[in-house]
Amino acid sequence: MGAKCCAVCSKQKKSISREFSSTAWSVLVAWEEVSFTDHESPMCEECYWDLREVLIDRSKEIDGLVGRVFTQSSDSKVAV
Ligand SMILES: [Zn+2]
Repeated sequence: MGAKCCAVCSKQKKSISREFSSTAWSVLVAWEEVSFTDHESPMCEECYWDLREVLIDRSKEIDGLVGRVFTQSSDSKVAV
């Protein structure tokens, strides 16, 4: 199959689907941090952490949302 391209930066890096919730994706799309709506899209480590940071940085704007987003993923599959 070969290496997948990162759907965010389009670089050919090790990219896997991340466990962002659809809520997290909705806000990332709304902020134009990502340009696609398929949250199953593969993403490299770097972009994943960038987006995570954006969510944390801007959590005040989306009061309570980030807490829910990350609690949700830590229960099941931890996306680290
Ligand atoms: Zn990337």
